Amino acid sequence: MKQTLSFDDVLLVPQSSDINSRSEVSLERKITDVSFNLPIISSPMDTVTETDMALKMFKAGGLGIVHRYSTIQEQTAMVGDIRNTLEEEQSQQVNSISAAIGTSGDFFERAQELYNVGARILCIDVAHGHHKLVKNAIKKIRNQWDSNIAIIAGNVATKEAYLDLSEWGADAVRVGIGGGSICSTRIQTGHGVPTFQSVYDCKYTDGAAIIADGGIKTAGDIVKALAAGADFVMLGSMLAGTEESPGSVFAASNGKRYKVYRGMASVEAQVAWRGNARSLEGVSTTIPFKGSVEKILSNLAMNIRSGLSYTGVRNITQLQSRCEFITQTAAGRVESGTHILNKNV
Ligand code: IMP
Repeated sequence: MKQTLSFDDVLLVPQSSDINSRSEVSLERKITDVSFNLPIISSPMDTVTETDMALKMFKAGGLGIVHRYSTIQEQTAMVGDIRNTLEEEQSQQVNSISAAIGTSGDFFERAQELYNVGARILCIDVAHGHHKLVKNAIKKIRNQWDSNIAIIAGNVATKEAYLDLSEWGADAVRVGIGGGSICSTRIQTGHGVPTFQSVYDCKYTDGAAIIADGGIKTAGDIVKALAAGADFVMLGSMLAGTEESPGSVFAASNGKRYKVYRGMASVEAQVAWRGNARSLEGVSTTIPFKGSVEKILSNLAMNIRSGLSYTGVRNITQLQSRCEFITQTAAGRVESGTHILNKNV
């Protein structure tokens, strides 16, 4: 049976470096011919990405995908707001506004309306992306708009699935099944592959851009994901609980402030979206309010650049070819944490 590795099972070995400053390091990555200066995408979830988050992701050089768990009118209004704002700022990013769609029901009407209001990157957003419905959806979108639209599709867990989606016409593929912080897919269905392993398995294959998605909890995990082969990472929990994430801040009896973060397959999200809950593969929780996402993104950008300089490289392509991974033991994992904080040290 194949052994698999998670982010916490591995480390990158520091290597000789001639980098004088983090400003020498580029984090640029592309989806088709559209460049992003920060390889971070915010998840299409109803407690992560609507108008405010999408605008701040653009401002930081990344991308935000407006979720699909709303009516077509509500989702197109959000995309319209993003386009107004970007047009006023005369931003080139107006050509890379992104929104999510499904694969059934009104998905094509949704895609058409989103295109009409300015979305140019459509994300086919389903739990099990290695599926003929995804193939059909990609085909339909390609037939309609050819290369005027970029397609992100997923999620997948294997190289075979990644190569199939690439061949079907996806420009970027979300890689990771069952690893999300709010995900219970592995508990409920027994299926999934550690996200790090899935990404690593896809490395050095010639296909769509790879988006590592699910279970990324630190800047270190982001560097590991990029080194393992990802072009981008997708973040949910790391960007939730901020001023820009949808939902209101509330004060708990302990005086601390919180926001809701929930899986899109949780009871709470499904009831809010379609009035009933069917298959449950997610949970809903509250997380401490973190303030503005801008600070989080600028800290992440700095830490990722530091990560590249530890491998002695100036861009992500060099990182992927020069990096050296090692596995660590349980004792190594303890040493890797800030263990002075453990009471028993
Ligand atoms: P996180 O960054 O670890 O919080 O994971 C976020 C990712 O979890 C999203 O980008 C989705 O791929 C995935 N996800 C969102 N909602 C659910 C759910 O309800 N069940 C399983 N996975 C989910």
